[in-house]
Amino acid sequence: MVSPTLSFIYTVATFSLLGATSAASVHIETVNKRFADTWYHSDDHPAYSLFRRQEQTDGVTYPDVGSDEWSSAFPPASPDTDDLPQVWVDALNAAVSAGTIPDIPPSTMGGNGNPVYPDGLSPTSSEVCSATYQCRISGEIWDAPDGVFGAGFDDGPLPTSTKLYNFLHENNVHATHFMIGVNILENPDVFTHAFETNGDDIAVHTWTHPYMTTKTNLEVVGELGWTMQLIHNSTGGRLPRYWRPPYGDSDTRVSAIAREVFGLTTIVWNHDTDDWSLTTGGTTSSKVHSQLSKWLSGPKSPGLIILEHELSDMSVQAFIDAYPLIGQNNWDFVSVAEASGVGAWQNVNSDGSVNRVPSPVLGANASANGATSSAKKTGVAAVSVTSGVLSSMTATNSAATGDVTGTSAGSGNGSSQSASATGSGVPKLKDTQTGGARRLLAMPAWPTSILSALAVVGAAVFA
Ligand SMILES: [Zn+2]
Repeated sequence: MVSPTLSFIYTVATFSLLGATSAASVHIETVNKRFADTWYHSDDHPAYSLFRRQEQTDGVTYPDVGSDEWSSAFPPASPDTDDLPQVWVDALNAAVSAGTIPDIPPSTMGGNGNPVYPDGLSPTSSEVCSATYQCRISGEIWDAPDGVFGAGFDDGPLPTSTKLYNFLHENNVHATHFMIGVNILENPDVFTHAFETNGDDIAVHTWTHPYMTTKTNLEVVGELGWTMQLIHNSTGGRLPRYWRPPYGDSDTRVSAIAREVFGLTTIVWNHDTDDWSLTTGGTTSSKVHSQLSKWLSGPKSPGLIILEHELSDMSVQAFIDAYPLIGQNNWDFVSVAEASGVGAWQNVNSDGSVNRVPSPVLGANASANGATSSAKKTGVAAVSVTSGVLSSMTATNSAATGDVTGTSAGSGNGSSQSASATGSGVPKLKDTQTGGARRLLAMPAWPTSILSALAVVGAAVFA
């Protein structure tokens, strides 16, 4: 969004092609996926402030963030899968029928924080490719471009976030905040601080922070969908482009649902300080600082994506203490979403304008306008798309760039997924994982289903 138009289009087209390829074959590999070494602007580039946030919205008037009207439509805890917007369920079913959602069962979480799969399924097999076991799925992002420090923080917004936001603002730098839905509901002022005051990027960190691979397909849809919906309603209609799985727990099935149903690309990380455990004695401030010092003074290739949290005063302070080392070692400090070259949002143009997402796309509670009210009553999408939600979202983007053509492959076996997930729990917040290999994982680009939908929807929707 800060790029020259041509670069933006080029990048979008490239990502789309990658997405079509990976989605069609669910290709798995162990080679790191990195951001394209295209361009990006550092935060001090004039274009950044010129086009960054401004006041643009999609033209819809949404309830004030923090108001009762704003929060009332959202689940207070784990989403009820019997009460999901039908358009989300339809999008999931369409993706399953198209064969783009791997038919593997949910995991159960072992005591060491590592997922276990039934039926002898190996978590490191190409079929499962568990990120906890360091298996990387093509299209997921684990590394930043060379020389770039991709800044991101998990688990906000929380009261402890304020100190971090003030620090970032004072230093005139931006970060991506992977936020938890219920935390946004409970800390609306902190959310506003990040998005409006700081102009930072917001990404999805699920609704209640569960181990996502333990969830059924519908539960995964609820965790991602409600978070996207709330961020959309709270940012003038923007749709986040990125998500990060709590505990880095994802696999081919979860990753595919995020991609195919919601157009989300996973950002993981390539270094982990375990700063989430500072308050529980899992690590110490001196150890975290030592690790950060080592990485920041190390090789510039690949660039750094370090897992950091705005979860406690101690984790925030750990970042602040290491911050001078970033500049001293000549890293370019960039929001990790911005480092991708295509920006943090699916429907924001290079000039900062926001394309309106067809109201039914985000379901019954998408917005406060009439069109949505209508959708709420009927539960039927007004837009003819083959796979719902994301199709329309991406159609918005394609209309904006005038690019992106594609055909759907999506041959599949139409398998449907049965699953039995383990309990839910709703911690609002922490990565209290217990040791283990857990770590990253990550993600895709633009779904085959979306591309196919473009042919159906086309520019007509946005004419
Ligand atoms: Zn987290």
